[in-house]
Formats: sequence, C-alpha cells, structure tokens
Amino acid sequence: MKCPLDGSFSKGELQRFGNIELNPSSGILNYGQGLFEGLKAYRKEDGNILLFRPEENALRMKIGAERMCMPAPTVEQFLEAVKATVLANKRWVPPPGKGSLYIRPLLMGTGPVLGLAPAPEYTFLIYVSPVGNYFKEGLAPINLVVENELHRATPGGTGSVKTIGNYAAVLKAQAAAKAKGYSDVLYLDCVHKRYLEEVSSCNIFVIKGNVISTPAIKGTILPGITRKSIIDVARSQGFQVEERLVSVDELLDADEVFCTGTAVVVSPVGSITYLGKRISYGDGGTGVVSQQLYNILTKIQMGLLEDDKNWTVELR
Ligand code: PMP
Repeated sequence: MKCPLDGSFSKGELQRFGNIELNPSSGILNYGQGLFEGLKAYRKEDGNILLFRPEENALRMKIGAERMCMPAPTVEQFLEAVKATVLANKRWVPPPGKGSLYIRPLLMGTGPVLGLAPAPEYTFLIYVSPVGNYFKEGLAPINLVVENELHRATPGGTGSVKTIGNYAAVLKAQAAAKAKGYSDVLYLDCVHKRYLEEVSSCNIFVIKGNVISTPAIKGTILPGITRKSIIDVARSQGFQVEERLVSVDELLDADEVFCTGTAVVVSPVGSITYLGKRISYGDGGTGVVSQQLYNILTKIQMGLLEDDKNWTVELR
C-alpha cells in the first residue's frame, strides 16, 4: 500500500471551539497518525497582528506528513487557514507586551482503519488560545534535570517530526521531574547516552565565550523554527554558532545555557542537574547573551525592530 501523500484538502469553515466527533477506529486514535504545529500571533503597537514565520510551520508539517505516511495541506492552504483563523479570533490577540495568541494546527488521520495502515481520510484543523509565559518561572531562569533512562526519540524514529506520539513519550519523565521541583527534562541521545538532544518542548543552546553550540539536526530532535531564527540572530550579532554533537560534559563549564521554542521563546537556564549534581549558571538572573538574543528576537516578533529578514507576516 502506498502512502496517501497527494490527498486534497477542501476549503474548510470556521466553527465555534468545541468537541469534535471522531470515528473510534480512526487512524489518530488507534495508531497515532497525527501531527501538530505551534506558532504565535503578536499584536503590534498600531493594533495590527504579526505572524512569525508561518511558512516554516507549513513546510515542517509537510515534511512530517511524509514521515507519517499522510497527505498535508499545501503551504498556501496552511497559510490561508492560519490567517483566516487568527483574523476570526482577532479580539483574543493580547495587547502588545501582554502575551500572544498561540495557534495550534493539527493534521490527523480521521478515517477508519482496523488493521494497521494509513487512514483513508484526513482532517486539518486549527484552534487558538491566548497565552502568556510557558514556564511558571516566567522569564526567570528555569531548572532542568538530565534524564538518564528514558528517551524521547531513537535514530530512525519520529523524533524529528512533530508527531503526537513524541509527546506521549515524554510525559512520564516530565511529570517526575516536575514533581521534584524541576522545570523540565533535558534528554540525551539513546545510543551513547552522552550527547544533548533537547528539552521536552524546546531546543537547547550552550554558550562558552563567543561560541554558541547547539545539537545538530540529525533525525532525533525537532528542527525548531526559533532555533533556526536564533542561530541567524546570533551570527548576525557576531557570535560563532556551531551545530554539532554537544557532550553533556560541556554543561560543566558553560557560561550560559538557554532553550528556544515558540512557546518558551528564549528561556534562560539557571541550573541543570546531572547524575544528582547541580550545575548552576550565573547569579540567578538571565545571562547577558541569552538576554541579548531574547531582546532581538522578541522585538522582531512584535514589530519593534526592522524585520530585514522578512520573518513576519502582517495581518490587518
Ligand atoms: N523541540 C520540541 C520537542 C518541541 O516540541 C518544540 C516546540 N515546537 C521545539 C523543539 C521548538 O520548536 P519551535 O521553535 O519551532 O517552536
């Protein structure tokens, strides 16, 4: 059986937020054939709304759909649907500096399949919600713990796509970490148990002097759009950025560590606990470089800095 990669998506309609009906034998419920995306809309001082790099989310969904053996909306369909949804929910986009509207596109196999196979029908839907800071720490540094036994992704698996099952895989370790007072979990590679991968919902960067290192995209971590943007911003600020294998030992003498993601933006890391030993960064505040990168990125996202890279899409 071939993957139904060329399915066509008919134009959808706007509906009030509420429950949806699903066939009990749908591909999403039985075999986890589903992908999601996450992006944000920000309100500018003039009242207009900015989306941040939405075509990157559309492309990532397309690549993910190929891995999940499912058809994806075209980039144009994705953008049109996101714009229509945000415009219909304009009043929920918080005022400048007071948060953002989080946009959650979902693609899933909704047709019935009893024996294991790709679903015969697919649904693309989007819902939105106003959000503030992701971590309860707000913009203050977060505290991570390195997970030594559980992994979120394996080589050849689905770690590099935004499929729902990847998130089910982290729930246990994340809940255990939170119960012990940590903000989140930092995962290691499952082969050597030595190289940094990522945090449950964000990418990780390690700063030493003028060099900013981040794990290379090699099939087991999500190619974050914020990660890609911060690499660009950091290079344009004169930092040397290295995408490579980053050993857990490098955490010991790093100057600063931070995480990136749509939800977490740029979150400074205050401490990382590895094999029971707590490694602390800075004096409890945000590191200078993390703050500098945060400021530039968020100003572009909110329309306060010239967007010379054409990253934002303005809606009226
Ligand atoms: N890694 C994981 C596992 C994630 O869920 C996310 C959030 N999408 C990220 C990294 C960061 O990706 P982005 O910057 O595109 O939000």
